Amino acid sequence: MKRLGIIGGMSWESTAVYYRYLNQQVKAAKGPLSSAPLLLWNMDFAPIARLQADGEWDDLTELMCEAARGLKAGGAEAVIIATNTMHLMADAVQAAADLPLIHIADATAGAIRGAGVKRPLLLATRFTMEKQFYRERVEQGADCSVVVPDEPHRTSVHNIIYNELVQGEIKPASRDTYLNIIKYYQREHGIDGVIFGCTEVGMLISQSQIDIPCFDTSAIHCEAAVAAILG
Ligand code: GLU
Repeated sequence: MKRLGIIGGMSWESTAVYYRYLNQQVKAAKGPLSSAPLLLWNMDFAPIARLQADGEWDDLTELMCEAARGLKAGGAEAVIIATNTMHLMADAVQAAADLPLIHIADATAGAIRGAGVKRPLLLATRFTMEKQFYRERVEQGADCSVVVPDEPHRTSVHNIIYNELVQGEIKPASRDTYLNIIKYYQREHGIDGVIFGCTEVGMLISQSQIDIPCFDTSAIHCEAAVAAILG
């Protein structure tokens, strides 16, 4: 198996989900005593979140590249960034690591294409919803048209991520907010799928509560990463 380097901690709540998925899938593939060969570079999310809010993307790129170089030096043979938002600097991270990078938007686009979904709603941080890097990559890879929530929905999706989910707080009222937003875009904008475009969203809502296909980027990303681990 190949050793996978994870740039995580953004937040550690979703990195814990990744850790479980990666090990479960390797166990399923290789046998009950098998576990995933992993190296984790766990960021301190507090300064990261501050720099994001201040728009200091160059400083953030430097921190991410430092992590990538550290993982390579530690013996990683492939790398993942365990957050959607921080794929903003995926190209720089890949260059710094000089390793294959399994891109979360490519894996997600593959799943959307496979399901034949054409108008998925993107639930994510403001950065992922508003900047081009993610939406365009999904649209090109899946041949679809990504729907981004308008205000006030956009702000409430973003705030629930930063004020609750990354802190491990799961509130029924916020679950209802997300589910009502999805219903609204089904009714008014003809969405035919939902991208859980933030690695914490799957902690709040699940496919069983939604009657159109959902794309949980944490699960999808881990499946792609396990394929790389297994070679
Ligand atoms: N984990 C989140 C994501 O997938 C948000 C936290 C972050 O900004 O990295 O985008």
